[in-house]
Amino acid sequence: QTRVLTGITTSGTPHLGNYVGAIRPAIAASRTPQVESYYFLADLHALIKVQEPERVQRSTLEIAAAWLACGLDPATVWFYRQSEIVEIPELAWFLTCVAGKGILNRAHAYKAAVDKNREEGEDDDAGINAGLFMYPVLMSADILVFNAHKVPVGRDQIQHIEMARDFAQRFNHLYGEHFVLPEALIEENVATLPGLDGRKMSKSYDNTIPLFAPRDQLKRLIYSIVTDSRLPGEPKDTEGSALFQIYQAFASEEETQAMRRAFADGIAWGEAKQALFERIDAEITPLREKYEDLMARPQDIEAILIDGARRVRERYGVGMMKRLREAVGLRDLS
Ligand code: ATP
Repeated sequence: QTRVLTGITTSGTPHLGNYVGAIRPAIAASRTPQVESYYFLADLHALIKVQEPERVQRSTLEIAAAWLACGLDPATVWFYRQSEIVEIPELAWFLTCVAGKGILNRAHAYKAAVDKNREEGEDDDAGINAGLFMYPVLMSADILVFNAHKVPVGRDQIQHIEMARDFAQRFNHLYGEHFVLPEALIEENVATLPGLDGRKMSKSYDNTIPLFAPRDQLKRLIYSIVTDSRLPGEPKDTEGSALFQIYQAFASEEETQAMRRAFADGIAWGEAKQALFERIDAEITPLREKYEDLMARPQDIEAILIDGARRVRERYGVGMMKRLREAVGLRDLS
């Protein structure tokens, strides 16, 4: 069985991008017998960006409920909160001590923050916490603690998987073959969804459509997706159209072709938005009911997460850290 690992940062409300890019494909994959799935709520990662406790807590519940509403079966997959696997931060320290600092200097997320500071005439590291700098090491620990084989990622994350391989290799070289070298799984068919403003939909950009927005809000948000000023009857470009890209992620091949023709024939933006709303609403409504039901029972969600963390630690985490502590020369705590 191939161990496949997927996490979502608990930094806000889950959105259509998380659904199309992570939740929907991961749940489909978990139903194939060759795959052993690991789904986690990346709440330690969230602390890099969100220092509002209520937001982290609320987001944890919302993202857990979203996974469950979309069909995750906690009896057949590993489902847990990152912060409950105490082996993860411990392993992150072991990896920190073999990770080349020069490699971390080149990580995209860190470099982007430095570039932004330079553009704004600030010192390189102004306002950047060491958590952002160390993020690839924590992510490596998420993967290596369970020796996951595959990590489905967008292209922007390939570099982080390469770093995890590098750290694992260095560790193996020093201390023996403890880690499998993980591989990035690039899902060519999984779209990156644009947000309301046309940039990548992201909790950080505040341009999201919440996955389980109530219907009227969903409609309002879809109607606020940016379009150009072409009038009804004027042909529209599908290329670069956020509206079209989102439609494509929810529609069948035939529906997408029909929409492509409608664009060429000059469909009014309002009409295209209505079609998009109806398509998304049809897919989401049954899931939204389950989501709302779960959100009314937060104690049940908690119980599932606590049980999930306990089981996965017993199955893998504790034994892995025992071996690793011995390997590096520390006392065995068990
Ligand atoms: P943040 O802004 O806090 O980083 P995010 O909303 O961009 O959050 P993550 O929590 O980092 O997303 O990502 C969780 C998963 O959702 C990842 O697998 C990621 O590839 C996927 N994902 C996030 N945004 C999109 C998007 N716009 N389109 C497709 N997939 C996405």
